[in-house]
Amino acid sequence: MERVIRRTRDKAVEAPAATPSRREAKPARAATQRPQAAKPAYEKRTIALVYDFDGTLCPRPMQEYAFLPKIGVDAAAFWKESNKIALEQGADPLITYMHLLYKKAKAAGIRIDREDLVAQGRQVELFPGVMTWFDEIDAYVRTHEQAENVGVRHYLISSGLAEIIEGTPIYKRFHNVFASEYWFEAYDLPYPKRVITDTGKTQYLFRINKGVENLSHSINNHMPENVRPIPFSHMVYYGDGDTDVPSMAVMRKNGGHAISVHAPGKPKEKCIDLFKAGRCDFFAAADYRKGSELFRRTSLLLDRILADIRVEEEIWRLGREIEGKAPR
Ligand SMILES: [Mg+2]
Repeated sequence: MERVIRRTRDKAVEAPAATPSRREAKPARAATQRPQAAKPAYEKRTIALVYDFDGTLCPRPMQEYAFLPKIGVDAAAFWKESNKIALEQGADPLITYMHLLYKKAKAAGIRIDREDLVAQGRQVELFPGVMTWFDEIDAYVRTHEQAENVGVRHYLISSGLAEIIEGTPIYKRFHNVFASEYWFEAYDLPYPKRVITDTGKTQYLFRINKGVENLSHSINNHMPENVRPIPFSHMVYYGDGDTDVPSMAVMRKNGGHAISVHAPGKPKEKCIDLFKAGRCDFFAAADYRKGSELFRRTSLLLDRILADIRVEEEIWRLGREIEGKAPR
């Protein structure tokens, strides 16, 4: 029922918010099927902040906090072996790690089911300020002088495991979570149900953009830019490295925004590379506390997006006016 509570917090209750999330598992209602009686209003008033997880919201790959220690495997050795197998076998690195994780657990005689993974999520460490970030950002927009009827949504797109993310204290803060996932009952070893690769992440950006978040609906149907509920220009993507390059490229090429983060006090070379290559608008330490550089730079982008929404709304209103369909 927390979905309902959150939905009421979401001020953009018009078209974009009508799109059901994965967890609601209801069929999506196309924008064109909205009741005709509804008072016409400018509908693109949702801002989407989209996050990578590992290295962006938490310092290390999420499997390193509980899964690998539990089966007695050294993290560096695990990733090295996984990448080596993927290279030798010409296998996808994400499928390879998901397979190897459970092969190692089986070899160690440790059974880890879905509930165990969710429980592991509680041990995941988050960067400073992540716990308060969502409320602070929502408050920033809510109290902004240009933010009337504008809502903010937070989305997560991760190659990590949905079950572990579900166990983290921030899971409920996301409007939707797209992450890799296992089948737990189908085979002896859990089998990948959905694998989100670096390039695969971009599919979910388009799902958010087009309002097609129900995964049973194809994302490939053509949808003109002007009817997409959350334009890329209303979206900000947060990532930490090379695995985010496809997502950042999609964002930037489509008029959206991106911010690169690095662990506080750690080298920022990767961020500088991404910045120089035009992959991101800004970079900052992954310090999510109010008053941090990351918060300030995010606020600058939000200021711009809010101003854009007001301009776009006025253009829309003027267009209705000259067609004799003035909205108010
Ligand atoms: Mg990452």
